[in-house]
Amino acid sequence: MKRILVTGGSGFLGSHLCERLLKEGNEVLCVDNLFTGRKSNIHHLLDNNNFEFLRHDITWPLYVEVDEVYNLACPASPVHYQFDPVQTTKTSVLGAINMLGLAKRLKIRILQASTSEVYGDPEVHPQPESYKGSVSTTGIRACYDEGKRCAETLFFDFHRQHGIEIKVMRIFNTYGPRMHPQDGRVVSNFIVQALKGEDITIYGNGQQTRSFCYVDDNIEGMYRLMNSRPDFTGPVNIGNPVEFTMLELAELIIEITGSSSKLIFLPLPQDDPMQRKPVIDLAKKELDWEPKVDLRTGLISTIAYFDNLLQSDHKV
Ligand code: NAD
Ligand code: UDP
Ligand code: UDP
Repeated sequence: MKRILVTGGSGFLGSHLCERLLKEGNEVLCVDNLFTGRKSNIHHLLDNNNFEFLRHDITWPLYVEVDEVYNLACPASPVHYQFDPVQTTKTSVLGAINMLGLAKRLKIRILQASTSEVYGDPEVHPQPESYKGSVSTTGIRACYDEGKRCAETLFFDFHRQHGIEIKVMRIFNTYGPRMHPQDGRVVSNFIVQALKGEDITIYGNGQQTRSFCYVDDNIEGMYRLMNSRPDFTGPVNIGNPVEFTMLELAELIIEITGSSSKLIFLPLPQDDPMQRKPVIDLAKKELDWEPKVDLRTGLISTIAYFDNLLQSDHKV
């Protein structure tokens, strides 16, 4: 049994990861400042003696004794990470320094939840790990993109300078149950709008693309990466390489929900990437991993989750 620290553990991906690590027979210390995470995401775990929750902001030092760290703390939705952009950069950069300092003191393995955003608005399509990216340093997405890029740099420097075992995972758009209903990301927005019969908000002309990975596939990839051979650092892309336009996504959600919602077109936000699709050859080779859940199947269970939430007392 290992004692594992999960930062951002009460968020969307973090809560699924905590569940998975408990199922594997580990003790989990979930650390979160509840900025975008919710207690309800981990409520069902609180009775488990192997689970512990600590409210803490990782921009401050943290001294605990653990065997492994998954560093997921950071708001992921553009609406949330742009709400307090300075805090977003601090979370990625100071948070990485503190968690790497902890890993160095304890001589333990640490995984970083990085992002496809390190590729920015890519000129190379699809994106392999070797692509260095096209990122604005001054735009409204820079607090997240550059924060995550600097975190990757810190991971590799701690690895080279102090010999820490690191695992850097570049996550492409991931969706599923426990996304925040007001998260602002496209899958949750479209589903909530469709279920409530409200207009579906397409930004721009809807021809921009994303490749959507279901949460279970993501967590499997994350777990395999953490448990990969000691000298495999990544960075490694974890995402579903099937690409959709936002119009196609909206139409699929309307079809599955049987909604009467209409599409409306709103301005495209600044620096919004026009295309995104991972090359996953490295994950296949090193982790024997590839996604198993197609978009329609994943949307059906995500829609069921939001439908349930809307039927309950929860204010959405
Ligand atoms: P989320 O917003 O649901 O979860 C992030 C969690 O981090 C929340 O619980 C939040 O309260 C917590 N947090 C934020 N700042 C913190 C701080 N300073 N100290 C402690 N806790 C803090 O987002 P998610 O989708 O679960 O994303 C998890 C991680 O995966 C993030 O690092 C994100 O950048 C990365 N990622 C996610 C996606 C995706 O599509 N879901 C894509 C790329 C990268
Ligand atoms: N740190 C932490 N928990 C630990 C060990 C370190 O939060 O268990 C923090 C520490 O406060 C420092 C940062 O991690 O600010 C980086 O650690 P490092 O040992 O590299 O820092 P140094 O003391 O060498 O500046
Ligand atoms: N988007 C949209 N309508 C929405 C929310 C998002 O058309 O209500 C678009 C957004 O402009 C982007 C894509 O969907 O092109 C994915 O947005 P999201 O915020 O989910 O993630 P990211 O841009 O970080 O990939």
